[in-house]
Amino acid sequence: MTDPGLIVVGSGPAGVAAADAYRARRPDAPVRIISADGSHPYMRPPLSKDYLRGETDDVGMHPPKWFRERDIEVVLAAPVDHVDARERVVRAGGVTYHYGSLVLATGASPAPLPVPGGERALQLRSLDDAETLRGAARSAATAVVIGAGFIGCEAAASLAMQGVSVTLVAPDDLPQEKRLGAEAGRRLRELVEKTGARYLGGAKVDSVQADSVRLDDGTTLPADLVLAATGVHPNSAVASALGLTLDDSRVVVDEHMSTSVDGIYAAGDVAFAFNGGAGRRLAVEHWQDAEDQGGVAGAAAAGDDATWSGVPGFWTTIGDADVKYHAWGDGYERSKMVEHGDDGFTVWYTAGDGATVGVLTYNADDDYDRGEELITAGEPPPVEMS
Ligand SMILES: Cc1cc2nc3c(=O)[nH]c(=O)nc-3n(C[C@H](O)[C@H](O)[C@H](O)COP(=O)(O)OP(=O)(O)OC[C@H]3O[C@@H](n4cnc5c(N)ncnc54)[C@H](O)[C@@H]3O)c2cc1C
Repeated sequence: MTDPGLIVVGSGPAGVAAADAYRARRPDAPVRIISADGSHPYMRPPLSKDYLRGETDDVGMHPPKWFRERDIEVVLAAPVDHVDARERVVRAGGVTYHYGSLVLATGASPAPLPVPGGERALQLRSLDDAETLRGAARSAATAVVIGAGFIGCEAAASLAMQGVSVTLVAPDDLPQEKRLGAEAGRRLRELVEKTGARYLGGAKVDSVQADSVRLDDGTTLPADLVLAATGVHPNSAVASALGLTLDDSRVVVDEHMSTSVDGIYAAGDVAFAFNGGAGRRLAVEHWQDAEDQGGVAGAAAAGDDATWSGVPGFWTTIGDADVKYHAWGDGYERSKMVEHGDDGFTVWYTAGDGATVGVLTYNADDDYDRGEELITAGEPPPVEMS
């Protein structure tokens, strides 16, 4: 019988890495990526940064030739709406495809803004979203960005750098105070404000009007453009219909990205994956980790013994400042900010037993690299945590 090969659902970094890793091990089996997205696989990180600022249009992940050379078929604008795990078939765009192994790399979608008029707010996940946002920014004098996660901070900075008068509003007094601590939050606010954007913390949005945003204290902020960057929900409808084990809407997988059903793997933002280094499952929403997990899923689907064990991490660019983060990402007990002479900083994060569990750096690459080693080894940071 001919090998039905691999089907990957989703054309983000996890999906493309899975296809590539499988192809490298199975040169002759069919490999197909099926995606709901109509655009050729692209990189999301630039969409809130240089793409939004109009500095680049080139966001392709790989040129089409790259996929042709690897004989990876890419089916676009074809949402998968049914999978039969017993027959091993997938249905997308009315067409049925057979698979030997299946990787679900369906990522996540922006959470809707749950206030009256919330549907008026733009969102930012896909290249189409980014094109709409970039177009709206061209004619906007004022903008409100709701949510001060990294995408909100980056987008607010990029809009402000184009001369738009931007207010970034969020419930935390300081950006990401709950996640990263007050000292880190203060520095993130400085980086955002350096680009000309204003940060308004402790703010709760009451409604979005045609040309303004109303806060629950009665304040009205003028807004030709509103962007909601209020977090994402995993795209787990297909996994849920399959009866895969989910946790908080994420697909539960082991360190090989295997789901609870034989022959089906999940990777990237949709997965709740076991990390061999951490010794527990982690929910991460980072580009490099999605790619790493996808590589593990593709290798495992091809019969290799790959595992996910690296320390998760990402870089964010706020204006022209690169802030870098390595962490298990599921909490810390203590944090310590170390300021560097050149405006740079390092924040060390430790668990109750003193082990380093995270490091956030700006202009401090040595600490970023050392931090990854210390987190991996479970050793304390090189500073007194008092
Ligand atoms: C604006 C922006 C900036 C970012 N910047 C950074 C950054 O600087 N650093 C960083 O580490 N991370 C960044 N991220 C996060 C990073 O992009 C994500 O963590 C990463 O894309 C997750 O990859 P993924 O492959 O799991 O999912 P995704 O990239 O979301 O891809 C999922 C794919 O699945 C498809 N899909 C979903 N459902 C179906 C279905 N039923 N059938 C078929 N296809 C389906 C989607 O269309 C999509 O192609 C950013 C994200 C955004 C939106």
